[in-house]
Amino acid sequence: METRTWEHNGCTISLLGFGAMRLPLTKTGSIDRAASSAMLSEAYKHGVTYYDTAYTYHNGESEPFLGSFLKQYPRDSYFLATKLPQWLVNTLDDAKRLFNEQLGRLEHEYVDFYLIHSIDKAAYVRMVDLGVVAYLEQEQKAGRIKQLGFSFHSIYEDFEYIATSRTWDFCQLQYNYLDTEEQAGDRGYELCTKLGIPVIVMEPIKGGLLANLPPDLEARLKDLDENASSASYALRWVADHPNVKVILSGMTTMEQVRDNLKTFQSPRRLTETERTTLDFIGQTMRNRVGNGCTGCKYCMPCPFGVDIPGNFSIWNKARMFDSYEVVRAQWENPKESDKRPSSCTECGQCVPLCPQHINIPEDLKLVQSELEAKRL
Ligand code: SF4
Ligand code: SF4
Repeated sequence: METRTWEHNGCTISLLGFGAMRLPLTKTGSIDRAASSAMLSEAYKHGVTYYDTAYTYHNGESEPFLGSFLKQYPRDSYFLATKLPQWLVNTLDDAKRLFNEQLGRLEHEYVDFYLIHSIDKAAYVRMVDLGVVAYLEQEQKAGRIKQLGFSFHSIYEDFEYIATSRTWDFCQLQYNYLDTEEQAGDRGYELCTKLGIPVIVMEPIKGGLLANLPPDLEARLKDLDENASSASYALRWVADHPNVKVILSGMTTMEQVRDNLKTFQSPRRLTETERTTLDFIGQTMRNRVGNGCTGCKYCMPCPFGVDIPGNFSIWNKARMFDSYEVVRAQWENPKESDKRPSSCTECGQCVPLCPQHINIPEDLKLVQSELEAKRL
């Protein structure tokens, strides 16, 4: 198993991390403990030492399950990560209660890597103002948190603000060969390298999407090596970044565990041809998008409840993967039906607010017509 050593804390950790957010489920929707334990055992046996959960994963079931599973092993043989659900924190006492509840759920005396979960600039400022960041620093001094970081899904400008606001031990970013210009993206990775912040990567396969490429692009990878999975190329692309210290994969099946272990057990740097091919695939997919919405939300809120960036994200994803199936669940979610383009009155309020100069009401009409045409 490939490992990487973190300069500032001396820890040597497996490059592959196990994300416990997509564990297999029973018919009743709870974690399938037998199947999940078998997968985790396989990973541990083959050298995976980083295990990642969060307060909200599997409706709160992931933390106690993972904590209980890991307790069978020596405490210094693995690294446990979990996250503070900042959106549930309205007071400092909320943060204290949640952190203590998490230690209790995990049945662990300390957490190796503790993240403020999914912050943008506004959420980070709120955590600072409430005294939550200072509180977590105290917990770090007390030894109940070993390394303090944050996870991030917002725009680069917010990332730069947060990353340069204090000395972070690490951060966790969505990063893969398709998202080089999304969220923190290449610029975020390079900033971390400059600031000396180690990066943990989530969604290296974009939630599994890069394992199922459109057929014309999949064929290009098969031409290179018909036995290598598309997922393995995505993981190797991320692994080629030296400041990436852990690559998280949210595994659901034993087959995925074994495929990932194979990728990381005999690490191979990308060849020039492989790199060029992945760059080509990423660029081709990005060129297929409907518009250049960055998800910045400057156009929001819409007075009529339309989720403007959410609709564009669904549209662009369906176009990039040339597949309606990858967005069906989102597009047809009945709880979100009021947020769809059909609620747009074309009032025009959002149009001057968009830095990308997107004609929002016109593009929303295209979203509606294209996706509805594909709906069976
Ligand atoms: S034009 Fe449509 S999306 Fe934009 S603010 Fe008006 S109703 Fe909302
Ligand atoms: S439509 Fe424009 S303003 Fe709205 S989220 Fe996308 S890029 Fe930002």
